[in-house]
Amino acid sequence: MSENGVVDVTILGAGPSGLAAAYYAGHRDATVRIIESLEQVGGQVSATYPEKHVYDVAGYPKVQGQKLVDLCAEQGLQFEPDVRLGEEVTSLEPAQSDGEEVLSIGTDKGGPYLTRSLIITAGHGAFEPRKLGIEGIDDWEGRGLHYVVREKSVFKDKNCVIVGGGDSALDWALGLQDTASPPIALVHRRDRFRALESSVNEARKLEEEGRVRILTPCEVREIHGDGNVEAVTIEKVDTNEMFRVDCTALITLLGFHSHLGAIAEWGLELEGKRQIRIDPMTCRTSMERVYAAGDVAGYPGKITLITIGMGEAAIAANNAVAEIRGEKVQPKYSTD
Ligand SMILES: Cc1cc2nc3c(=O)[nH]c(=O)nc-3n(C[C@H](O)[C@H](O)[C@H](O)COP(=O)(O)OP(=O)(O)OC[C@H]3O[C@@H](n4cnc5c(N)ncnc54)[C@H](O)[C@@H]3O)c2cc1C
Repeated sequence: MSENGVVDVTILGAGPSGLAAAYYAGHRDATVRIIESLEQVGGQVSATYPEKHVYDVAGYPKVQGQKLVDLCAEQGLQFEPDVRLGEEVTSLEPAQSDGEEVLSIGTDKGGPYLTRSLIITAGHGAFEPRKLGIEGIDDWEGRGLHYVVREKSVFKDKNCVIVGGGDSALDWALGLQDTASPPIALVHRRDRFRALESSVNEARKLEEEGRVRILTPCEVREIHGDGNVEAVTIEKVDTNEMFRVDCTALITLLGFHSHLGAIAEWGLELEGKRQIRIDPMTCRTSMERVYAAGDVAGYPGKITLITIGMGEAAIAANNAVAEIRGEKVQPKYSTD
């Protein structure tokens, strides 16, 4: 498969449903490409509740969210699909490739990616990190401003300012203790943190030891630096006092928001405002060779759960493969 070569199945979104679809399509010997707007796979589970436990996925009486999606990724990526992370799918158009009718997929970063079929597993839409309301904030990305902590080593001996009041912010104020240069400044706009009490207590203990500097109720108002982040101006919002904190890494952990975005404009029939209508028998949308599964797929009585999305992914992948091969839909067992 070349850089933009035609694949049998493109999967839009790498949450639990997309990873399940990748498994089922790969299992049927289909060539697969996955396109995901985040720099990570795992969908809502990784983005919003990696530390929580999930109790209702078949076969797992209790499993931590991140562990579950790590296993989904191991299973879904075993046939080595082409995975494009950090690209938001924006367009879908019919196209021709060597006389064959295909679909052409455009993203905000690349493409066109040609495919014989598409399975949309976009959940509630593309996830984007919530950003500080500072003009020109995007210019600091890759220059000291981070929205996730992927590798701790990136922050080795850095002076870090972490912004946020939830579990991620507290987890990393604690988790970077052995990596970043102390104290790690923790900025939150309210006095009360939303994070687990035990994490907050631990951070307050570290504050007494000079290893964490808790700044509340405070907001970052300006970023300074000659090319890279060198300092931030912080406002204490109850007194309007402004002060400067030197830092070489600004980590804003303010959660994510999602939007169906361009998908809603492709002419697919919708079910309400946030879902694409599918025929639950086949998971096909109103467009030929375009399927949907998981939270984004709607029909009367739909239940948005991981297990349901995985089941729909199996239906969608098997139907997509059958449609492009002109075969009857039939299951192929995985046992050997
Ligand atoms: C706090 C919380 C707790 C939950 N607990 C449970 C539970 O206990 N049990 C349960 O079964 N369910 C639970 N759920 C629901 C469950 O997480 C969802 O049903 C599941 O994640 C849906 O999977 P999905 O793959 O369909 O979509 P998602 O997980 O939303 O993944 C969709 C992916 O598609 C990507 N994407 C979207 N649009 C684009 C685009 N245009 N281009 C590229 N990528 C795109 C997104 O970035 C995202 O990564 C919970 C949800 C929340 C928020």
